[in-house]
Amino acid sequence: MAQRLKQENYDVVVVGGGCAGVAAAVSAAKNGARTLLIEAGSMIGGELITGLPVDGALNARGEWIVGGVLKEILDEHERLGGYIGPVKDWRLIWYVCIDPEIMKVAVSNVVRRHGVHVWMYSFAEDVVMSGNEVSGLVVLNKRQRTLVNSRVYIDCSGDGDLAMLAGAETMVSNDKGEFQPLTMLFRMSGVDSRRLLQFCVDEPQNIAVGESEWMGADLTPRQCAEKLYEQGQPAVFLKGNGPLIQTGIKTGDLKYETALIGIIPVSNERGEVSVNTTRIANVDATDTVKLSEAFGSLVDQVWSCVSFMRKRIPGFENAHFSGLAHRVGIRETRRIVGDYVLTGDDVLNARKREDGIGKGAHHIDIHQDGIKQVRIPVRHGGSYDMPYDMLVARGVKNVYAAGRCMSADREAHGSARVMGPCMAQGEAAGLGSVISIRSNDPGNIRNVPLRQLREGLAAQGAILAGTN
Ligand SMILES: Cc1cc2nc3c(=O)[nH]c(=O)nc-3n(C[C@H](O)[C@H](O)[C@H](O)COP(=O)(O)OP(=O)(O)OC[C@H]3O[C@@H](n4cnc5c(N)ncnc54)[C@H](O)[C@@H]3O)c2cc1C
Repeated sequence: MAQRLKQENYDVVVVGGGCAGVAAAVSAAKNGARTLLIEAGSMIGGELITGLPVDGALNARGEWIVGGVLKEILDEHERLGGYIGPVKDWRLIWYVCIDPEIMKVAVSNVVRRHGVHVWMYSFAEDVVMSGNEVSGLVVLNKRQRTLVNSRVYIDCSGDGDLAMLAGAETMVSNDKGEFQPLTMLFRMSGVDSRRLLQFCVDEPQNIAVGESEWMGADLTPRQCAEKLYEQGQPAVFLKGNGPLIQTGIKTGDLKYETALIGIIPVSNERGEVSVNTTRIANVDATDTVKLSEAFGSLVDQVWSCVSFMRKRIPGFENAHFSGLAHRVGIRETRRIVGDYVLTGDDVLNARKREDGIGKGAHHIDIHQDGIKQVRIPVRHGGSYDMPYDMLVARGVKNVYAAGRCMSADREAHGSARVMGPCMAQGEAAGLGSVISIRSNDPGNIRNVPLRQLREGLAAQGAILAGTN
């Protein structure tokens, strides 16, 4: 087959244009590599453009732990306007609130600024192997099938597609077939933030707060709610087991069970929030038929929640449904097994390491069926280092994996899957690729000198040092 295909050559090829893939491609391109970013969908940016905030960019103490490409994209957003920035949830974390519409432009600007070649509407469907090395990637789009040749490939597909095609070892959640829920995010505009925040002060039994010793554990729920009020942003997590939601379910006003109605500010100008609440657990999202079937049920949940919020949640009486994410949100599918598998122990103990290529700080955060969700904070509100070897797909010479399909056990994945650490991983894989192709054994990613990589990452603004 390979002989019959049109061929194109790049230095670095990244599969998947979510947040990790964007960071990987920008990092490779800004270091001079001719870089191709391949995305099956019609947009790049992934969950950066669905209405979610960026988690894991700051630790629970409020210190930034991810910089580099993420920071460059946030700066571009700030330059374009509408940027809200870091917000404290008084539950567990700081998160960075962004406007998904402006973020679409910011991501595109940064990717083009660094000369990344982007193929959207293009699916990476097969690989050509030469021993244990990927020598070409078969990409299908409307033009035709193209064989894309490169020295290094970075799997940011979220599902480990490339690594799996290359014969690398992969894993799924656990042997019970459990997967974190699919979620359809939506937005509401015209929200009266003050009324919502006053409701939190008046009825704090409905909101999730003070779950970390570093964030409000010494305060009463009402005092935390008062802090939220002072902060002034409509950043509120309504508890799935709180009286408001439970009553809604009993009366039939809310037609599904959930751990939360997460209300996240996205635009102060539009009085708009994003809502993270809908869920269908234990669907293997690599099964496209099941994923597509889930879409309809999730949209029904969205509509039920819109009406529940307008009817029952103070501040939403005059709010309007203003948007649906452009895709179903997928938290967990197939992951690679890397030369190192990040563990829950590494995360919870805030383990530091000399081979760290980026940091994570988000709690172990495993959503489950119905109202269940595991939330375990990192020790002392700190951060952990992610080692280089977790990027390296075991058994293959020239394939990195970064982002949601990273090498991590289920607990560690529950933390490092958020966007801050996913982008730090992508950035490291991007620079690692460039160092590798310039070495005397091009493409052998196991020969990348870690000191050189870490110095290069620090030079482009990545945060690697410090005790945070
Ligand atoms: C509902 C939900 C809520 C979340 N909440 C938060 C939050 O509040 N804050 C936070 O920071 N994180 C949150 N997360 C987690 C985080 O958003 C994701 O884990 C992260 O964005 C994953 O990024 P990624 O680039 O690794 O993967 P993805 O965003 O999944 O990107 C992978 C891309 O690869 C493309 N692709 C897949 N296969 C192929 C192929 N074969 N060929 C070509 N392209 C392909 C896909 O189309 C996709 O665009 C949430 C996730 C979900 C789903």
